[in-house]
Amino acid sequence: MLCRHIFLLKSKPPNPFTAIKFFSFSTAPCITSVLLKQCKSLTQAKLIHQQILVQNLTHIPTSHVIAAYVSHNAPFLVLSLLQRLSPSPSSVFWWNALIRYVVRLRLFDNAFDFFHQMTRLGWRPDDYTFPFVLKACGELPSFPRGSSVHAVIYARGFDSNVFVCNALVAMYARCGTLGYAQQIFDEMFQWGICDTVSWNTILAAYAQSRDAERGLMLFSRMSDDVKVQVDGVTLVNVLSACASLGSWSRGKQVHAHAVSTGFIADVFVGNALMDMYAKCNMMEEGIKVFERMKVKDVVSWNTMVSGYSKVGSFEDALALFEKMRQEKIELNVVTWSAVIAGYAQRGHGYQALDVFRQMQSCGLEPNAVTLVSLLSGCASVGALLHGKETHCYAIKRAFKGDGSDQNELMVINALIDMYAKCNSVNLARAMFDAIAPKNRDVATWTVMIGGYAQHGEANDALALFAQMFQQDKPVKPNAFTISCVLTACARLAALRFGRQIHAYVLRNQYETVSLFVANCLIDMYSRSGDLDAARDVFDNMKQRNDVSWTSLIMSYGMHGQGDEALIVFDKMRKEGLVPDEVTFLAMLYACSHSGMVDHGLKYFDELSKEFGIAPGPEHYACIVDLLGRAGRLDEAMELIEGMPMEPSPTIWVALLSGCRIHANVELGEHAANQLLELKSENNGSYTLLSNIYANARRWKDVARIRTLMKRTGYKKRPGCSWVQGKKGTATFFVGDRTHPQFQQIYEILVDLIKRIKTMGYIPEMSFALHDVDDEEKVDLLLEHSEKLALAYGILTTAPGSPIRITKNLRICGDCHTAITFISMIIDHEIILRDSSRFHHFKEGSCTCKGYW
Ligand SMILES: [Zn+2]
Ligand SMILES: [Zn+2]
Repeated sequence: MLCRHIFLLKSKPPNPFTAIKFFSFSTAPCITSVLLKQCKSLTQAKLIHQQILVQNLTHIPTSHVIAAYVSHNAPFLVLSLLQRLSPSPSSVFWWNALIRYVVRLRLFDNAFDFFHQMTRLGWRPDDYTFPFVLKACGELPSFPRGSSVHAVIYARGFDSNVFVCNALVAMYARCGTLGYAQQIFDEMFQWGICDTVSWNTILAAYAQSRDAERGLMLFSRMSDDVKVQVDGVTLVNVLSACASLGSWSRGKQVHAHAVSTGFIADVFVGNALMDMYAKCNMMEEGIKVFERMKVKDVVSWNTMVSGYSKVGSFEDALALFEKMRQEKIELNVVTWSAVIAGYAQRGHGYQALDVFRQMQSCGLEPNAVTLVSLLSGCASVGALLHGKETHCYAIKRAFKGDGSDQNELMVINALIDMYAKCNSVNLARAMFDAIAPKNRDVATWTVMIGGYAQHGEANDALALFAQMFQQDKPVKPNAFTISCVLTACARLAALRFGRQIHAYVLRNQYETVSLFVANCLIDMYSRSGDLDAARDVFDNMKQRNDVSWTSLIMSYGMHGQGDEALIVFDKMRKEGLVPDEVTFLAMLYACSHSGMVDHGLKYFDELSKEFGIAPGPEHYACIVDLLGRAGRLDEAMELIEGMPMEPSPTIWVALLSGCRIHANVELGEHAANQLLELKSENNGSYTLLSNIYANARRWKDVARIRTLMKRTGYKKRPGCSWVQGKKGTATFFVGDRTHPQFQQIYEILVDLIKRIKTMGYIPEMSFALHDVDDEEKVDLLLEHSEKLALAYGILTTAPGSPIRITKNLRICGDCHTAITFISMIIDHEIILRDSSRFHHFKEGSCTCKGYW
């Protein structure tokens, strides 16, 4: 039995060489160092290593096996061999090779760990070891590890080695401790061991920091005082400092320097020069450099494409992009991303998607920047489906979604923004919640708050903003965050909250962005009904732009102070600012809401004749509104017929409401039919038409419209009004009895109505149709949301101070009449914002003078 066993073993001899048949030797090769060097794969190297051990071939040094493993990318096998080797200065080389290798693989933790093992095993690191370990510490970045390596350097006397010290400077800079970097550099300088690399390292550190100015100072010291040899790297660093400072004049000096020293021929210097000019908005200078470059690489082309794209010369960017394709220059992800970003910024989302598909068909992998640009493209056209596809794509590429990686966070922020802008605020919020709170940055908060402010519930925006400050590590809002919150306040007319934010802005001195924030403040105050505060902000601005002026004009328009709007408009032109189409829109709106028909028509005329602006549908809608309110309905109709474009639904709605005011049934029917044909979502038109019929006592038609409304499944947005009280906001719907103080509210209301009836108030029953669905609810006229809100305001507001009411729809005519009467008998100014404008009721009159 035993024999048989032996036989079996013998019949299948454990010949190692059969296993390495791939050497294509017919006979077993002799294991030599040369053979080891020639092996073509890790498997082969392992097999030879195995044979060395089996045959105990001591003549082959371990270092040769290590070399084979190094060349076949097996760091952990190298490590296991090195761990068994006894320390010797001649073999430190292999530790260095190992550490360098893992650093190149970006396995920085391993690099540090290997270094640790090396010293623990009694090896002596040399001046080649430290730079690699320090690089790993800087890349992590880890200040504690870096400084522990520094301690070893000091203990082992390498602290005067220029090679090691340069690496120390770079490490401290990467860890964000520029002070330490500067200290090491200063010591080196004192000892006189600084070389060009030392200067370049500290220059690069400052160029990349917020203190680029200091970098430029160092450069002049380096080239003028100390007269150290400047090289191409130096110039690249200095140009990057100039670019981040936007200092083109200094950049030009460096340019001259590069020309005189011949470094201009260096493609890196050329690229840095172009980048500097592009960032200083001097694309003409940039293109000159580009054209003169003898050697261009893909970075040169990319710099120009993204430069043009960023300054808004998208046509030039595209032309260059096409040229690159024609000249068969390899397009990399940066080029493609720049073009995708260019389309996205212009709101051409579908083109951006198209370019992305072309990029994919070229076999290129998008990076975070590409995905962010693509998502902003999707957001710009509301392409939710494409946005979701991009999301899936990101998930497929090992996207964790918790924001732990900086690039990934950038993509998540873009996803939140995309979902919010595509009206999927809940999905946006789910993304936001999935990010670990400690990983959220200011952009994360801002996109979410902005999403709520513009596309969701503005109250949620305010709540989230408050939450920003309650974090373990509070995130400081930036100017964009502030503007988003102010938008939310403006939507809610949340004056109290808006004032708090104003105070916060003043305390925290958002000076560098004062213009941007101040414009938002003007808008917030005027939409919240405090026109004087809006004016104050405007008057106190150190600097104003066309947006500031337009916002103020808009404010006066909203509050029915057309005369003031005109004065502001004239002043704006005197100051040399050129009004654009938005300014004109604000002007036309102001005229229409103040009944200034002639002025409105004059500006409408000037728009194209003097300013060469072709009026858009919004401008037409304003003029139709203006003429309609004034009862000049035929003129309005003439204007519509002469329009160079198809009339938009807003234009017909404007005409329809004019018809309602002036009881023009025939034209009203025409406008309503046009709206039906356009299948517009604006179902307020049904209500308007049914009001016109009711006014003309054509009850059959009223009934017909109501059936139509029911059949088309039209759901009316419920009217709702809210008042800002000391204890927060109270919201009321029609017939609302949910408020804890509802009994008192109704008592006040009944009393008020009784009193104003004696003064001549007669309820206008036709308006009952505005806010109710069923005719049996006609008596609800008394309980309209704005009346309830007013009663609550009277109940809770200190005598003499204004009551501010906001309504989500237009105020109804009966409420308007009733509130006008009530303003005669109460001691408050009543400021009511409805969906179209402000009404200031005081002593029996309203600032709208009936134009609403
Ligand atoms: Zn009403
Ligand atoms: Zn009014």
